[in-house]
Amino acid sequence: MKCPKCSASEIVSTMATELGVGRDEMPSLCAGCGGMWIPGHTALRAIFDQTTWRPSVALTTAPDVAHERKTGNCPRGHGLLMRAKVYEEEPYYLEKCPKCGGYWFDHGEWDRLLGSRDRVHLQEFWCDAWQVRKQREQREQLAERALIERLGEGLFLEIKALSAKLRDHPHKDQALALLREQMNTRQG
Ligand SMILES: [Zn+2]
Ligand SMILES: [Zn+2]
Repeated sequence: MKCPKCSASEIVSTMATELGVGRDEMPSLCAGCGGMWIPGHTALRAIFDQTTWRPSVALTTAPDVAHERKTGNCPRGHGLLMRAKVYEEEPYYLEKCPKCGGYWFDHGEWDRLLGSRDRVHLQEFWCDAWQVRKQREQREQLAERALIERLGEGLFLEIKALSAKLRDHPHKDQALALLREQMNTRQG
């Protein structure tokens, strides 16, 4: 099968029998770019469960960073793969074939996914609802970071702690009124 990203290379089955999946379900690797093709959900589950197995390939050249920016083609001939953004400190894109359900990981992306809290949600990465939720979370994180920068981390954390204490307090209105009053009172 042709590598989704390097037109000249073929992907080669890892024959990872320890994964306990059929021949057609075995992950395949590209020696040209170090990318990995996982033929579908069964194979993906098997690799997640087999925590000791790691894809390893002797690269013929250094991995091409431009691969991340281009969308590959399904090695099974189903046309363009579908990209999904992974929201990390440094976001990246994973690819999946909408027809056969195979996944493509550029060099290093598999390890990044394993290190991510969101890995258990991999199936959802290609859903609009997930993308919208992650976008919102990222916006909130950025807003919080900006606020911390302005207020200072100490004050920010104190306000957070105070809010947590007051949230379910039966007299929180009075507490808020007191806070407002104290803020407007000049002490001298
Ligand atoms: Zn390749
Ligand atoms: Zn496909």
